[in-house]
Amino acid sequence: MSETEKLASYAARENNSKGRRHQEGKVNDRTEFQRDCTRIIHSQAFRKLQYKTQVFPNDEGDLFRTRLTHSMEVAQISRSVARELYLNQDLAETLALAHDLGHAPFGHTGQDVLDALMAEHGGFEHNLQGLKIVDEFESPYLDFKGLNLLFETREGILKHCQMKHAKDLGDIGERFIKKTSPSLEAQLVNWCDAIGYTHSDLEDCLKHGLTTVAEVSGAVPLFGELFERAAKSHPSVSRDDPRLYQKAIGDMMKMAIADLISQSAKNIEESGVKTIEDVRASKELIGFSPDFLAHHRNFKKFSRSHLYNHERISSVREKQEEMLKTLFKAYEENPSLMGRTAQGEDKPLQRRICDYIAGMTDRYATQEYKRISVLCGEPESPSRKRSGP
Ligand code: MG
Repeated sequence: MSETEKLASYAARENNSKGRRHQEGKVNDRTEFQRDCTRIIHSQAFRKLQYKTQVFPNDEGDLFRTRLTHSMEVAQISRSVARELYLNQDLAETLALAHDLGHAPFGHTGQDVLDALMAEHGGFEHNLQGLKIVDEFESPYLDFKGLNLLFETREGILKHCQMKHAKDLGDIGERFIKKTSPSLEAQLVNWCDAIGYTHSDLEDCLKHGLTTVAEVSGAVPLFGELFERAAKSHPSVSRDDPRLYQKAIGDMMKMAIADLISQSAKNIEESGVKTIEDVRASKELIGFSPDFLAHHRNFKKFSRSHLYNHERISSVREKQEEMLKTLFKAYEENPSLMGRTAQGEDKPLQRRICDYIAGMTDRYATQEYKRISVLCGEPESPSRKRSGP
């Protein structure tokens, strides 16, 4: 969307942006927000999302969501919601595409293992890692480090932040200290992320046989109602036909998006915000209605207990934990096993290892584990060294 299209007065826009850390000349063919979107899509971290787990590890099948396709789905939902609320669609899209950049390999298992291994060294948090990726690790430009994104983009990428880190982050950490809100675009992407993953993870889990229509219907009544409605309106279709649960999931997702838009529009109007500064000073304004929020929380609870902690997911988790712990220990004992870039960084060893592992895809971490296992106990062969994840 161009800046000339209709934007609410409280939307993020170029003329109220807090700008970039390094001054750059303007371009004529795109808005500054579109420019940020391009920088994310062209980043190495974005390409790696195709080999990072959403729920099912990459080698389980070609049809499951990965972090890349999940991010694209969230971007599409975010643009729709932003459009309906007259917010900045380009910023919403960029934040959605960037929201999972900081994830370690193996999804939440990677996050938990790295955080535990780094307990004495500052911990690991994927939102903060996402900010480090765009501010430091991605370095395609000659004149500055990082992608030099707009403040509003960086603000949205740092969804959560512990106080101990916020103090070291300057302007971007301020809102966690002052307890203010981010832009409405950042707020909506958080909700669209949750809408995206709850519905698509359910579809993947039904397809993979981790749960059944009857089990979901029992735990999430709205799904049951929508499934029965779809079945009744298509009596010739077998109840085992996946199109029926896909229709129910699609309808449930549409209801979630519609509820988010209507309740958020109401919240915004009632709050009386006129500018982005009013938004920052206000409580968060994007959200579901109380009734839909109750359904959403119940749906998430079901997903946690029956899908994410399903024994078929948990059984691979143990192996993934072992792989990451083995890699961390091996690099700690012999830092030269890491790629050259990580070896040369001016940071404490554990942080270099953590950043190095966090940058791996599931695929690379698995290959690296095999390589390290072969090398274990053997003198290292320089020809087997890797340049980096
Ligand atoms: Mg996500």
